[in-house]
Amino acid sequence: MSNVVKIREVGLRDGLQLIKSNLSTESKLIWVNKQVSAGFTEMEVTSFVPPKLLPQFSDASEIIIKSNKIKKLKPTALILNIKGAIRAIEAGTKKITFVLSASEKHNLSNVNCTTDQSLSMFNEIIEVSKDTKVEVAAAIATSFGCSIQGSVPEIRVLELAKEMAKKGACEINLADTVGYANPKQVKALFGKLKDQIGNVPMAAHFHDTRGMGLANVVAALQEGVRRFDSTMAGLGGCPFAPGASGNIATEDCVYLLESLGFNTSVNVDKLLELRHYLTDLLPNEKLEGRLGVAGTAINFKKKLL
Ligand code: ZN
Repeated sequence: MSNVVKIREVGLRDGLQLIKSNLSTESKLIWVNKQVSAGFTEMEVTSFVPPKLLPQFSDASEIIIKSNKIKKLKPTALILNIKGAIRAIEAGTKKITFVLSASEKHNLSNVNCTTDQSLSMFNEIIEVSKDTKVEVAAAIATSFGCSIQGSVPEIRVLELAKEMAKKGACEINLADTVGYANPKQVKALFGKLKDQIGNVPMAAHFHDTRGMGLANVVAALQEGVRRFDSTMAGLGGCPFAPGASGNIATEDCVYLLESLGFNTSVNVDKLLELRHYLTDLLPNEKLEGRLGVAGTAINFKKKLL
């Protein structure tokens, strides 16, 4: 099995949902550039949601247009409905991630429709994207449990995954939106997911709400997952999920993967420089992650990019 792991930075989307600081478009682009120079090739740079709801993403089109000019980068965007998909495609987004929730109650509070209604919207989005070169990834929120509904049946997650893979999703991402997952559960669910989606790549999106984030990464790796979402300094959280805290920290995740012998193509020192930039950029936010505080171990092999 491949030892190449792709980490997708989602800090500019998931990371900015909850924080009070309002980042200028210019600052966001400096962030993107710094992360690309550290070796990143895929970043979720925005979300096409109504600006009235989340004004921090009102510059979505501009960010996509400008990020598209950055060499080696595939900027991606999150969308929740067909309207967002059309806006994203018009802006020139190369890859969009459509999110629906396996928890009925979470889906209702997040996007105001049932999961089945979201699923039919996914089919419409696939239709709309057919004549374009836009890739459509599917993410299933609350795959490991929901803070509103409680447990989420595995069978529901798997049937949604199977359906979206069949319809043309370029990737199936299981998201632990509220940080309920543990490694045993992660192993079990990704183990079953493989059999449902054929050659469609699996991806994982973990939050570190209860300190399980990196352990969940290891469990997912054992089941063949080679794509992970993370945010710099562990920023983030879902505004509609009470108690949800930050994602796994990108710098810690890269350090873990490189220490295990996986190839992320990321330069850890440059990532730590970026983290330093973020402390200045977001002075009112509490930055998480261990590597930013401790630095790398003296015997850690660093990549030169
Ligand atoms: Zn998230």
